[in-house]
Amino acid sequence: MMDVAVVGGGPAGSSAALKATEKGAKTVILEEHPEIGIPPHCAGIVCAEDLLKTGFTPPSKVIQAEVDKALAWYEEYSFELPLKKKFLILNRPLFDKHLAKLAEQRGAELLLGSKVVGVRRDGSNLRVKILEHDATRELLCKVVIAADGVASRIARMLGLHVSHELAACIQYEITPNPIVEDGLLEVYLGTRYAPGGYAWVVPAGESARIGLGVRRAKKPAKHYLDKLLHQRAPEAKIIRVMAHPVPVGGPLPKTYAENLLVVGDAAGHVVPSSGAGIVPALICGKYAGEVAAEAALKDLHHSQRELSRYEALWRSHLGGKFEAALKIRRIAEDMPKEDRELIAQLLRGTLGEHIKHGRKVRALLYLLLRHPRILKYAKAVIQARRYGLF
Ligand SMILES: Cc1cc2nc3c(=O)[nH]c(=O)nc-3n(C[C@H](O)[C@H](O)[C@H](O)COP(=O)(O)OP(=O)(O)OC[C@H]3O[C@@H](n4cnc5c(N)ncnc54)[C@H](O)[C@@H]3O)c2cc1C
Repeated sequence: MMDVAVVGGGPAGSSAALKATEKGAKTVILEEHPEIGIPPHCAGIVCAEDLLKTGFTPPSKVIQAEVDKALAWYEEYSFELPLKKKFLILNRPLFDKHLAKLAEQRGAELLLGSKVVGVRRDGSNLRVKILEHDATRELLCKVVIAADGVASRIARMLGLHVSHELAACIQYEITPNPIVEDGLLEVYLGTRYAPGGYAWVVPAGESARIGLGVRRAKKPAKHYLDKLLHQRAPEAKIIRVMAHPVPVGGPLPKTYAENLLVVGDAAGHVVPSSGAGIVPALICGKYAGEVAAEAALKDLHHSQRELSRYEALWRSHLGGKFEAALKIRRIAEDMPKEDRELIAQLLRGTLGEHIKHGRKVRALLYLLLRHPRILKYAKAVIQARRYGLF
């Protein structure tokens, strides 16, 4: 009998397994693929300071580039975006392997090529059905942590209502790296590049990643990416194509049930305005591992009350940030074209200068006197800044 079975060997799953083992729970990670981190589907952009705060410092071989400047494009205009913090570009397969190894070193069992195809209740415990090499077997456990990514079938199997607002994302790994200036991240905004989302170009050592996320777009995501690639790096060779949805509608209303916790993309633990899910997965994974282990060791794993502590913990840490970011995403998605264009124009002028130099009051006064109609967005922006979203 296992105390905790974690489904999924991504950042959320490994973080949860690591914490559960540290708390003394007998823990297993079940990962459907034969290798952790493969296939990859991520740009690997993380804020260095936020990652450091999670306690998961990546070894240097995992860091492909460091970024401290951003150049944003809106239509044919470009403007410098102030980056208050340094960002790292991670090699996701190596990072995920590093995390899984940490969990294994602390005592978690790691089962690769083990796909969970069913879960059923058995008294106060769960029976997890695993498909391995065309044969199935069952594993008895006290708590399941569903860290199985955006499709999150496990939570559904246990009766939790799962529904995500999705962004369709696609990314190419290209070579040679077209970014001319070291430490630069390129962002492309507006319907021309990525309707309902944005596009990015990031350096990744010898290569680069060019990708985008779209919502309610008239054409498939690939259409917009091919167009941008043709414009930005027509000579580049595509060495890998990655396509995957990202949940951008905020967290599920409920992320626990009897014997079950849901975490990471499966729970919608993604910053809705940026699609960033690595750091939230690590943070929420820790809370999931801690609460699952404590409930299992106290034989309270069947108690919803005991498991609800998990939701209280992650909400008090990240709930406000997810909410503020969701507001920003919805405002950006529904903003009339005239307002979009005016903001882009202002950011290239006086307003951009005020923001770049941290002159918040002057920026607000400038808008109040010159462009009061834009002020209606200011509250959401101020709230978002409080959570470090800009
Ligand atoms: C194109 C793209 C670019 C992105 N760029 C960034 C970025 O730059 N920065 C950032 O912070 N975030 C980014 N994200 C989001 C980020 O990748 C995710 O938020 C993050 O991977 C979530 O981690 P997770 O552990 O919850 O899920 P995942 O990393 O998806 O891991 C889930 C794991 O569960 C396994 N699994 C699923 N079902 C089963 C099953 N039934 N049995 C066993 N195993 C199972 C899967 O194989 C997988 O290994 C990007 C996403 C995409 C699609």
